[in-house]
Order: sequence, then structure tokens, then C-alpha cells
Amino acid sequence: YQRIVLASRPRGPVTPENFRLETVPVPQLAAGEVLIRNHYLSLDPYMRGRMSAAKSYASSQQLDQTMIGGTVGQVLASRNELYQVGDYVNGVLGWAEMGVSDGVLLRKLDATRIPLSAFLGVVGMPGMAAWYGFNQIMQAAAGETVVVSAASGAVGSVVGQLARLRGCRVVGIAGGQEKCDYVVRELGFDACVDYKAGNLEADLAAATPDGVDAIFENVGGACLDAALARTNAFARVALCGLIAGFNGGELPIKNARLLLINRLTLRGFIITEHMEYWPQGLQELAVLVANGQIKYRESVADGLAAAPEAFMGLLQGRNFGKQLVKLI
Ligand code: NDP
Repeated sequence: YQRIVLASRPRGPVTPENFRLETVPVPQLAAGEVLIRNHYLSLDPYMRGRMSAAKSYASSQQLDQTMIGGTVGQVLASRNELYQVGDYVNGVLGWAEMGVSDGVLLRKLDATRIPLSAFLGVVGMPGMAAWYGFNQIMQAAAGETVVVSAASGAVGSVVGQLARLRGCRVVGIAGGQEKCDYVVRELGFDACVDYKAGNLEADLAAATPDGVDAIFENVGGACLDAALARTNAFARVALCGLIAGFNGGELPIKNARLLLINRLTLRGFIITEHMEYWPQGLQELAVLVANGQIKYRESVADGLAAAPEAFMGLLQGRNFGKQLVKLI
């Protein structure tokens, strides 16, 4: 089967030379192991951090090993009594057509009401990041104003819809008019500011006449500063991601003094450290998706070989919604 390994570590932006496509033999299963055919591969911003040798919250990806990544697929062979041939499963098998799991990071899926791919997005890790940041950190009440950056994306789209369901005023920030139109018309945000239009601060101020009570930050840099500038006293900031700094640039917070003046609470979080919330969160998200109360959108690249290009696109905002690679 084919897989993609990390061939070299990026210096600055990711390039195609950082990856290598290889063909490797299908391994024999040991007791307890499961062989899985991946149907979809998830591409996520955190993979950029793993490609670097620098210390982060997770250890870095080893060279010449399969690129890390979440997957959904179907069991082809099993020596684990918990998994039968044909079961749909979510695993972390990486950028590969197949993989072997010892069962530890495997989760059985019921794909009868929700499409398989959604378990990598809205009812998977990104959805949980949204759910956790919204419910545990932002704690926004009906009538409060919330701002969400990377609003059309896998995480941001879910945050905004959860906030709308609670009765908040929801303002997104996204790159380009098309994404902003989608965020307002399809996802039901009250407004969305196009940061590429060049008037981010003024446009966000106009969209938040009552100030901002909670921020879900996916980007950092100018997006975070513009939102901080609008905060009311005791606003909360859920710091989920800093994608604007993923290529190694500095990310100063110019409005840092507002953390004090407005007595803000800013909390970063890593969703895989809060597994105790996943059963409840995923159950709630699954119901909302099955009912059509939460919508989602996917960018689907075709075939394993397309993964590097799609990943580079994700880091430049060329994706529109959850970025996936369809393998079969
Ligand atoms: P998205 O689907 O939102 O895709 C990434 C988006 O980020 C792009 O579409 C683009 O949107 C925006 N973007 C990319 N580069 C830049 C840039 N230089 N400046 C501004 N915006 C940029 O990805 P996810 O929803 O999967 O992830 C969103 C964020 O959440 C990321 O920062 C990620 O690292 C973080 N995350 C954190 C988790 C945690 O546990 N803390 C878990 C999951 C995700 P646009 O075109 O609108 O600019």
C-alpha cells in the first residue's frame, strides 16, 4: 500500500519536498491488532507543528515515518475481539491507504445517520475543540457578542453555530468575501468580517456595536488584536490556535494592556488533553448534525498523492471548510 512520510523538516513554509510517497508491504497482524483500510484522511493545522523539530505540546513527527493524522476507514482484518471485519472506525493511522492499530486509539463509528467523513470534522477532533472552547472557556450567555476567527473552517464554523443556538450575537472573521457570505448565509452568523479587505479593525468595530464578551481565537496576530480592541470588561478568550504564526514568525499581541484594563481571562487549551468531555460533546454534536442544526462544509482532495498540496493549501486558507483527503 502507499503512504506519505516526512522526508525533511520545513524551514519556513512547507514545500512538496518535505514529503515522500512510498509503497510498503501490508504487515502481518500480531495478537490484538487490527488492519484498517482508510477511506478519508484528515488534514489539520497541528501537523505543521509536528513537522518541526522545535518543542511543542506534542512531540515532533519522526523523519521517514508515516505523517501523523486522523483517519476513518473500515476494518479489513482483525485479531482484536472488539473489532470485526467491516466495522467503521476512527483512528490515527496517518497519511496512508492502510494501517495497523493496536486498538488503543480506535473508536467504532455508527455511520448510518452521519457520513463517515464528518467524524474527522464536526463530530471529531475539530468539533470537540469548538465544543470545549465554547462551553468550558467562553461560557457565553444569550445576548452576549462573540467573535470567532477562521470562521468558515472546521473549528470556527462549529463554534459560531453553537453560539447562535445559545442566542449569542456571533461575528466571524474570515478571508475573502465568498467565505464571509457562506458564514452569514449558510451558517447563520450575524456578521462576518473579511480580514483581507484591509479594514479589519474598523469593520469589526462596526459589526460589534455592543463590544465583545467572548473570543474564540484560531488565528492570532491582527485577528486577535482587532477582537481584543473590542472587548468588554471580563470578556473571555478561548485560545485554540495561532495559525498566523505557523511558519515561525513572531506573534506579538499589541493590545496586551487590554488584558489588564478589561480584566480579561485568556485560556489556551489542547483538546486531546480533555478526553473526559469527548463522549458528552460528541454525542451533543452528533444530534445537532443529524438534526441539521449544525451545518458543515468540506474541501476534499482526491487520492493520497494529493495530500501534500492540500495540506499546503490549508495553511494558506485555500481550503473552504474541513480539509480531507478521500482515499476510496
Ligand atoms: P480551518 O478549517 O479553519 O483551516 C485553516 C484556516 O485558517 C484557513 O482556511 C484560513 O482561513 C485560516 N488561515 C490560514 N492561514 C492563515 C493566516 N496566515 N492568517 C489568518 N488565517 C489563516 O482549520 P481548523 O478548523 O482545523 O483549525 C483552526 C484552528 O484551530 C487552527 O489554528 C488549529 O491549529 C486550531 N486547533 C486547535 C486545537 C486545540 O486543541 N487547541 C484543535 C483543533 C484545531 P481564512 O481563509 O478564513 O483565512
